[in-house]
Amino acid sequence: MRNSLRAVVGLAAALLAMAASAAAQQGGKPVKLEVDLREAARRVYHMKMEFAVKAGRFTLVYPKWIPGEHAPNGPIVDVTGVRFFANGKEVAWRRDTVDMYAFSCEVPAGVETLEATLDYLLPQDSGTAGVASSTAQIAELPWNLVVLYPKDTKSDDVNFSAKLRIPAGWKYATALPVTKESSEGIEFETVSLTTLVDSPVLAGAYLKTYDLAPGQKPAHKINIAADSAAMAEATPEELAAWRQLVAETGALFGARHYRHYDFLLALTDHLAPNGLEHHESSDNRVPERTLHDADLLETQMDLLPHEFFHSWNGKYRRPAGLSTPNYQEPMRDELLWIYEGLTQYYGVVLAARSGAWKAQGLHEYMAVTFARLDRRPGRTWRDLEDTAISSQLLYTAREAGSSWRRPVDYYEESELIWLDADTLIREKTGGKKSLDDFCRAFHGGEGGEPKLIPYTLDDVVATLNGIAPYDWKKFFEERIHSHGPGAPLAGLERSGWKIVFNATMNEHEKSEEESGHVMNAEFSLGFSAHYPGGENADEVAEVIAGSPAEKAGLAAGMKLVAVNGRKWTPDILREGIRGAKDGKEPIELLVENDEFYQTVKIDWHGGERYPHLEKIAGTADVLAEVAKMRAAAVK
Ligand SMILES: [Zn+2]
Repeated sequence: MRNSLRAVVGLAAALLAMAASAAAQQGGKPVKLEVDLREAARRVYHMKMEFAVKAGRFTLVYPKWIPGEHAPNGPIVDVTGVRFFANGKEVAWRRDTVDMYAFSCEVPAGVETLEATLDYLLPQDSGTAGVASSTAQIAELPWNLVVLYPKDTKSDDVNFSAKLRIPAGWKYATALPVTKESSEGIEFETVSLTTLVDSPVLAGAYLKTYDLAPGQKPAHKINIAADSAAMAEATPEELAAWRQLVAETGALFGARHYRHYDFLLALTDHLAPNGLEHHESSDNRVPERTLHDADLLETQMDLLPHEFFHSWNGKYRRPAGLSTPNYQEPMRDELLWIYEGLTQYYGVVLAARSGAWKAQGLHEYMAVTFARLDRRPGRTWRDLEDTAISSQLLYTAREAGSSWRRPVDYYEESELIWLDADTLIREKTGGKKSLDDFCRAFHGGEGGEPKLIPYTLDDVVATLNGIAPYDWKKFFEERIHSHGPGAPLAGLERSGWKIVFNATMNEHEKSEEESGHVMNAEFSLGFSAHYPGGENADEVAEVIAGSPAEKAGLAAGMKLVAVNGRKWTPDILREGIRGAKDGKEPIELLVENDEFYQTVKIDWHGGERYPHLEKIAGTADVLAEVAKMRAAAVK
């Protein structure tokens, strides 16, 4: 408690001068912002702003560190058409030679208003990570893409009056309060820059809104925009699960820190799948057929619960190092194993409690996820905390080499750490308390309008000690600094389950394979490869460090040509693995490496191998207790 208080006081002191100068610059007047999305289908957004200014040097900055993205990835390279005007005359600007995000100009004497314009160019490439985009039928507007703000301003202290135009005939949804709507555009309530950036807009030709808590306060809605009208229709089962999800968070936290909540869901194959949390909404993007395709739905099962949970864990409570005063101040990502990790755990748990994931689905997901972590060679050199500290590098790292580089494991491996903590609390209190009690104590409170309370690891430890006394600091430090061998599976065992392997394909892995068109032989030969005929056809996606495939010389980027002399397909490769079981002959792959052909002989005789969960005999099914519905069933 003391540490977080110190952090807040320190932050406040450092910001005092900053806030004062910003207020003086704006003279208390809100910045006028006009954004035009009418050319979204051409992949360009237009922006015009007006700032109250005084004569002298004036610097505007473009947001660099975007909340929830944990990285300095504000897409400055696509900011074009930057021009400043005063009294109708163009004013020259110069970019800072070190800070690419800062534009300075000299405001002439007698000028009180500076106008700025920019065009944001959106990529058409669905693989572009971290950059919001539009499609021919959908426009997503995270406002940070199209705003400039005075340098050294605290985002809480500068207010914006925004006006938006969207393509004719399109609908829109946002958590931002609307004051007026006409043929001239949509006008929003004047809000702080913090609230503006935290309240994206989803617009689309086919947009459908469902009420998830009819007649209740606060209101909960899901707004779905799809590239086709039919795909924006949710099924009764999906609606039932989302309504139960709202009820489950009420039962879990006992308080909500928003005035209303809007899920924004874009269904399209032309945006990179992603989810970005906000206080009163979330920006979710998944493939177009997700609501009507069992395999796609299976791979996105925990997305909405995850982003929703972030309203409490990430927005209301946030690590001090991520509670920055504006979007230029660097973030410190070391506690992402709490910010993202606890969210990842509860995203999965809430997907089960809301009825979306049945026990079998949950088990198969956990089996493959935890088995991957258990054989992650990268942990021998990089501990879990380092994956969090270096998240700003790892989000955009390519898949090739990920088992040795170690990817953003603070998501999935933290599921194991928090399951460990959850089952330990249950054990120590004879089942009377659980991690739910921690959530209620840490993230509950009074509720109401959005606010931010920063925390440190000591605050988390102190709250846990109030639930079940234990050396929690040591518990976490051992796990975030571990180099293995293997993943921290104690919590899974305490929940009554263990990982076993057999030749029956894991159902979650199968859904991943069928929706992603990547064949996976990671637990046998130790590699995965893109299906023939599609994107990156025949290319080896990843080879696990230390696996039989790696030892035989296979590498990511090589192209599969043939298996045992016959043109490769996923079925032919699987038959090859089965055929070599218990034999002596290696599996022979013909591969193409640049324009050279070579044979790779993999000495593997263990057959096909897929992970599953198996009940540990004579133990209680604590995992079923964790996944059990807490709220009354919603009608
Ligand atoms: Zn997250």
